[in-house]
Amino acid sequence: MRTKKDVNAIIEALKGLYPDAICSLEYEKDYELLFSVRLSAQCTDARVNMVTPALFQRYPTLADFAAADVDEVGQYIHSCGFWRAKARDIVGSAQMLLSDFGGKVPDNMEDLLRLPGVGRKTANLVLGDIYGKEGYVCDTHCIRITGRLGITDGSKDPLKVEQQLRKAIPPGESNNFCHRMVLFGREWCTARSPRCQECPIKALCREGKGK
Ligand code: SF4
Repeated sequence: MRTKKDVNAIIEALKGLYPDAICSLEYEKDYELLFSVRLSAQCTDARVNMVTPALFQRYPTLADFAAADVDEVGQYIHSCGFWRAKARDIVGSAQMLLSDFGGKVPDNMEDLLRLPGVGRKTANLVLGDIYGKEGYVCDTHCIRITGRLGITDGSKDPLKVEQQLRKAIPPGESNNFCHRMVLFGREWCTARSPRCQECPIKALCREGKGK
C-alpha cells in the first residue's frame, strides 16, 4: 500500500490532468442521474447519453415513470442491454421514491440501497454528485487503476476496494478522485493496453515503474 504522501501526490497529479472532474452522464433531475447510472451497467456512458433525452422527454416526471409500462420503457433503453431488468428497476425505483421518500432521492447509503437495482457504486455516485458528500465510486476503472497504482492491494472485490479507498483517500477528495479515475482510465490506463511508456503519472505508479 502507498504512503499518505504518495497518495496525495497522485491525487494532485490527477487534478492537474483533469481539473474538471465531472460525471459524464447527462441529467437534470436527481432521479434522472439515478436512472442513468442504472442504465450504465454493462454499457457505456456515451450510449446512455444517447437514449436518455428521449426517455426523459417521454416520462417528464417521477410520477410518469412510476406509472410507466415496463415494456414501453424497455423500448427506449433497449440498446443499453439488459433492458428488461433495467426498465423494471427504473419503474420500481420511481414507485418507491414516491411512496417511501417523498419523491426525493435519499441522501444516505442505507435508504439508497433499498431502491431496486441500486448497489453501493450507484449509491456512492449519487451521494457525491447530488449531495456533495463523500463518494467512493468503485467502478471497473477505479478498481483496476487504484490496484495498479498500489493504492489498494489489487483486489477486484468492489467492497474491499471501497474499504481500502476510504482509508487512503480523504472524504472530501473521494468523489472527484473517482471521476478522474474514469477519465484517466479511458485515456491512459486502459484495461487491455495501458500506455505506461508515456503515462503522465508513471513515476508515481507502482506497476508502471520499470516499464
Ligand atoms: Fe496505468 Fe501504466 Fe500509468 Fe501505471 S504507469 S497508471 S499502469 S498507464
